Amino acid sequence: MILVTGAAGFIGSHLVDRLLADGHEVLGLDDFDPFYPAETKRENLRDASKHPRFRLIDADLCEPETWTDLAEILESRCRCIVHLAAKAGVRPSLADPIGYHATNLTGTLRLLEFARHHGNPHVVLASSSSVYGVNSRVPWREDDHDLQPISPYASSKLAMEQAARVYASAYGQRIVALRFFTVYGPRQRPDLAIAKFARRMRAGLPIPVFGDGSTRRDYTFVDDIVDGIVRAMRYDASPFEVINLGNHRTVSLREMIDTLADVFGIDPILEELPPQTGDVPQTWADVTRASRLLGWKPKTDFASGIRAYKSWLDTCREQGAKAPSELVP
Ligand code: NAD
Repeated sequence: MILVTGAAGFIGSHLVDRLLADGHEVLGLDDFDPFYPAETKRENLRDASKHPRFRLIDADLCEPETWTDLAEILESRCRCIVHLAAKAGVRPSLADPIGYHATNLTGTLRLLEFARHHGNPHVVLASSSSVYGVNSRVPWREDDHDLQPISPYASSKLAMEQAARVYASAYGQRIVALRFFTVYGPRQRPDLAIAKFARRMRAGLPIPVFGDGSTRRDYTFVDDIVDGIVRAMRYDASPFEVINLGNHRTVSLREMIDTLADVFGIDPILEELPPQTGDVPQTWADVTRASRLLGWKPKTDFASGIRAYKSWLDTCREQGAKAPSELVP
């Protein structure tokens, strides 16, 4: 049995689908945090929820009772936990630093405590490229310790990694922390730029461009991320690792908008705005370690990923439903 926290979210729901397809029994945990609509998250799990090997627990990982309930359900059958539940998003974290640390650090500590007392299942944690912050030495490598986070979200993820390192050394837990680089694709979180821009372009609304459009992101397609998670679930060569999962290519904000415009066949209206606090100028992953330890390489180039995203939006429309990300105003 595999426990997936944040199972109803963007990445979590893709991972659940993949694990079910691979023949696993999956227990999902999600509290349907109101960051974006619960309806969107239920839609993410539409297929999985009909599957006989899937069960979902609607509960908050920060509540101690949640773990008491999970202990009863899992008994000693849990061999791996993939921890994706979090308060996500850089900019919203600036308004709620304590809430972000409560979920992302204290919530993770509850999970690690649970694992420690229930058979030490292998743990895979979702960390983030944001921990590198404004470090200008790119591409970013995991052994560069000059981490300069600039948002409460980023510091909560870095604190989570450090807590995990302690659990691995003090209690002998086996933990892999994966630093995801801007993940996109079908079901992308509606607050993230690609989903938001596509939604606004299709509605004929202006696209907010913060700064001069030169910021660069290492966009990583969700199927590649899921493949990296699955490989990390099998990793057992050392007790603790931090591993980047990125596309190892950077795309500027301007290039991202141009690709969307090209794939969607829409001439976008741009609204130029000042740079945002918490936004870093660039993200860029060195993926040597992921390749060496996990045998992982990203397979999806940016234009192909955007085409896959558009065809998912089109399918949702053909089925008469709004794409989940379009449920958000
Ligand atoms: P998401 O918001 O779609 O999924 C997170 C899920 O966690 C949500 O369904 C939410 O309801 C759930 N959740 C939040 N708080 C909870 C709690 N207290 N108890 C139980 N469930 C809770 O986000 P995502 O984009 O799928 O991100 C998944 C993970 O990957 C997160 O840890 C995020 O920080 C990390 N990450 C994502 C990206 C990205 O670009 N999407 C990049 C770097 C890291």
